[in-house]
Amino acid sequence: MTLPSAYADRDCSIARALEVVGERWTLLIVRDAFYGVRRFGDFATQLKIPRAVLAGRLKLLVREGVLSREERGPGGIEYLLTAKGVGLWPAVRALMNWGDEYYSPDGAPRALRHARDGGVLDREGRCAECGLAVPVRDIRIEPGPGFGGTPQAADPVSRAINTPQRLLEPLTGPA
Ligand SMILES: [Zn+2]
Repeated sequence: MTLPSAYADRDCSIARALEVVGERWTLLIVRDAFYGVRRFGDFATQLKIPRAVLAGRLKLLVREGVLSREERGPGGIEYLLTAKGVGLWPAVRALMNWGDEYYSPDGAPRALRHARDGGVLDREGRCAECGLAVPVRDIRIEPGPGFGGTPQAADPVSRAINTPQRLLEPLTGPA
């Protein structure tokens, strides 16, 4: 459902941003794109959302320049975060931190580390080892202390997501 236009306060950038990413599922699609999901079928498998809903959300994100739609050979369409899309990372990370603090009694389900030295990132994205504000491409995400998923989950996309991954790199993982 599209947000009513009255919601988009002309003088509020949060309201304007929510016009693009405030619908149910949209930020989860963006999150998966950070994790390295690129293909329609992989988003559908991972998110378990109706394909028509997924198609609509992807279309909106492409129209708004958050994702780019790339043709990779016959039938091989991939959706990649643009620079504008990568700009949503601090918002995704902040939501992750907030969810960890208030809704993850067993500890953070996922941990963020600096890929180069393995340092844990603090809430502002700074590496505990080297002190660097780590760029998105140098962040590794991996199961954290509160991870409750099964590494041997049924589908390969979920399995790959539950394996340490560099953000934005195409999914790799146990086959
Ligand atoms: Zn570091």
